[in-house]
Amino acid sequence: MKLLAEIDGELVQLDDCDWVLWAPCGCAIGVVVARHTPTEDAAWKEFYPTKRERESKQRKGYRMELVTHARWRDEISDLMRAACSHTATASARGEAP
Ligand SMILES: [Zn+2]
Repeated sequence: MKLLAEIDGELVQLDDCDWVLWAPCGCAIGVVVARHTPTEDAAWKEFYPTKRERESKQRKGYRMELVTHARWRDEISDLMRAACSHTATASARGEAP
């Protein structure tokens, strides 16, 4: 079965997408392939199995974004390797799975 997702008004195959977990400071701290986790909810559960953890993270401003592999490769994978440059909230990092 092929699932489609819409990103910025364009239809893309879910097979070509990843969910990226963004920390409140603006760092990308995690990624899961969308093929295995087709919904945002499922992606959250990959990172934080309990509802309590998820709600706590979401309250702190963590967010999940669906991106294409291409954008992941071009823009985000470097961000994940780099150290956090958002010093004010650097302590928000360090919790990556
Ligand atoms: Zn950061």
